[in-house]
Amino acid sequence: MNVVRIPAGVYAANCYLIYPENSTEGIVVDPGGDADDIIAKIKELKLNIKYIILTHGHGDHIAGVKEIKEYTNAPLAIHKDDEYLLKDGDANLSSTMVMGSIEISPDILLEDGDNITLGDLNAEVIHTPGHTPGGISLKIDDCLLTGDTLFAGSIGRTDFPKSSYDAIINSVKNRLMVFPDDTKVYPGHGPASTIKKEKETNPFVR
Ligand SMILES: [Zn+2]
Ligand SMILES: [Zn+2]
Repeated sequence: MNVVRIPAGVYAANCYLIYPENSTEGIVVDPGGDADDIIAKIKELKLNIKYIILTHGHGDHIAGVKEIKEYTNAPLAIHKDDEYLLKDGDANLSSTMVMGSIEISPDILLEDGDNITLGDLNAEVIHTPGHTPGGISLKIDDCLLTGDTLFAGSIGRTDFPKSSYDAIINSVKNRLMVFPDDTKVYPGHGPASTIKKEKETNPFVR
C-alpha cells in the first residue's frame, strides 16, 4: 500500500493519498487546503479517487474538500457525530480561520466498525472521540491514520466546545495503543511514527 503525505493549507494539516500497490483506485483523507497541490499529485500518480474521508470536521482538515470533490466526483465521508461541524462554519472554526467559513454536507455518515473497501484496500473506521465528538482513526493494512487524536509525541487539543480530555485519553490508550508495536502512525499534523515509538516516548500514553 502507498501512503502519500501532502501537508496542506496554512495550518499544515496532513492530507493523505492512499492506494494499493496493484491499483490506481485510491482515497483522499483530510484535504485541508492547497487543493491545487493535491490535484496535481492525484494527476501525477494517475489516481482514480473513489472516496474522500475526513478524520474530523475541523476547518484545517476540510478547506480543500469542495475542490477535490469537484475534481474527483468522489463521495465525502465523515463520522456521524462530526456532521454538525462540517455543516457549521462557526463550529468547525473555519469562520475564524484565513480560508473563511466553510459549510459542507457529507454524502456518507460513518460509524465505528464501518469498513470502506476498494479492491485490496480496506479502511476500518475506529471511532476515537475526544478532540471532536466524531473524530475517527482509519486502520488500513499496518497503518493507522490518527487525525488530530494522536500525534508523534503528543495528542490533539481538547479545549474546544464538545472536546473531552478524558475521551481522547481513552481513545488513545484503549482504541489505538491496542494495535501491534510495528503499526505505522500517520497523524493529522507532523511526522509519522509507530505505536511502539508512541508507547515509549509519548507522555500522554505512558
Ligand atoms: Zn482538529
Ligand atoms: Zn488539525
